[in-house]
Amino acid sequence: MEKKVAPIENTTFKNIVSHAKEYGFVFPSSEIYDGLAAVYDYGQNGVELKNNLKNVWWKAMTQLHENVVGIDAAIFMHPTTWKASGHVDGFSDPMIDNKDSKKRYRADVLIEEHAAKYEAEGNLEKATTLVQQMARMLEKEDLKGVQELIISEKITCPVSGTANWTDVRQFNLMFSTQVGSVAEESNTIYLRPETAQGIFVNFLNVQKSGRMKIPFGIAQIGKAFRNEIVARQFTFRMREFEQMEMQFFIRPGEEKQWYETWKNTRMKWHKAIGLPERHLKFHDHEKLAHYANAAVDIEYQFPFGFKEIEGIHSRTDFDLGSHEKYSKKKQQYFDTEINKNYVPYVVETSVGADRVFLAILCNAYTEEITGEGEEQKQRTYLKFHPALAPVKAAILPITKKDGLPELARTIFEDLRYDMNVVYEERDSIGKRYTRQDLIGTPFCIAVDHDSLIDNCVTIRHRDTTIQERVKISDLKEILTQAVSVKRILELL
Ligand code: ATP
Repeated sequence: MEKKVAPIENTTFKNIVSHAKEYGFVFPSSEIYDGLAAVYDYGQNGVELKNNLKNVWWKAMTQLHENVVGIDAAIFMHPTTWKASGHVDGFSDPMIDNKDSKKRYRADVLIEEHAAKYEAEGNLEKATTLVQQMARMLEKEDLKGVQELIISEKITCPVSGTANWTDVRQFNLMFSTQVGSVAEESNTIYLRPETAQGIFVNFLNVQKSGRMKIPFGIAQIGKAFRNEIVARQFTFRMREFEQMEMQFFIRPGEEKQWYETWKNTRMKWHKAIGLPERHLKFHDHEKLAHYANAAVDIEYQFPFGFKEIEGIHSRTDFDLGSHEKYSKKKQQYFDTEINKNYVPYVVETSVGADRVFLAILCNAYTEEITGEGEEQKQRTYLKFHPALAPVKAAILPITKKDGLPELARTIFEDLRYDMNVVYEERDSIGKRYTRQDLIGTPFCIAVDHDSLIDNCVTIRHRDTTIQERVKISDLKEILTQAVSVKRILELL
């Protein structure tokens, strides 16, 4: 079995990856057996953060758009789905092996990274020409040409340093398995490589049962599986991951306008969840997928560079048209406004829950030096938006006696039905603050002796460490406001 190898190229990123493990965000899968390449498990804090992210996406897409509804389709689908979608014949990546290091690479990624070097040197023209040349070759399935390009550009293997390359071959990324007990060819089914097809095959079910009028959208969150050639950069490229997708069904001819609308709507969402504008950008596709007539990525600047976190695609009527052909069932809509039947066009927004999670984690990770000389200390904390933070508040009696735990417990009991709070009485208050900083808890509530007399507690704010005295009777209202998802949704 392949072992987990995760070359981490940068110190900050390395720190983030070990922080994620040490504080219960992300663990390598089946680690006691040395892990499984490109598969990860979310820990006790990771799952809270991920659920909060998915919740914000779901609410933003469905609750805030009257014409978007959600579904939850199965991972297994009839195998003809993947014939119709083009995945059986076309969902592959060009791969190349280095004969000396025996390492496998995606040929297109090697060329794109090489072009990025030209760009970094200020040679934008050369970078663009190279990427366009590659895109043309891939479009024509000219794999020999791609190999020659790698050789003529003197691209070498980062491990062996040589240019001793094999031919370029196409490698299908779908995982297959068998249904039933007989392992015959006809029983082969696939683990879905994208959630989108579950939406397309349900287009008419939703349209009819919900009496939906075009334009309307169907949203879904779910697992997808791809046998990625190169497993790298932690949860950025996994073999089992989660997508949050929305297909927006429109009148043919209106795709440009809707493509622009969704591009901007989605960019706004990434800013609203706290990713800084300077770390986000659009990147137009050079090489369009078989189903798209326009495509753009939203990229986030990870410690290892600007990389795709979301794709927005104008998919035309490719998918519904193809399902109509393969299923021999009409996938059409009668538009009463124009008195016409047509196969709707689709604009899709597709974002990886794991990639946004990683972006949010990288952005939140903060190492701060405070004090001078001998007093100098390093403080590490995760500055998550309070609505996304795994734990919203920690209730901390400053001592374990004098009735303070009892009062703190009453506060905890009162809050736990409204938000995820923890109660802790072990160790000094300073140590407890540090533990909460490390998992990104925005508020620590200290209960002290004065609390018994003045009915007040101290709120310590994570990012500033500023402390504020508030009435216990006001606490729930203050915290509820501060951690509400509404604070993100209002920005959209
Ligand atoms: P890439 O070029 O990085 O392989 P892609 O263009 O194939 O990604 P899409 O098919 O557009 O990706 O999928 C939509 C989204 O799903 C991506 O923007 C990404 O956030 C997520 N995604 C795709 N593949 C993976 C993966 N292997 N691991 C984690 N997330 C993924």
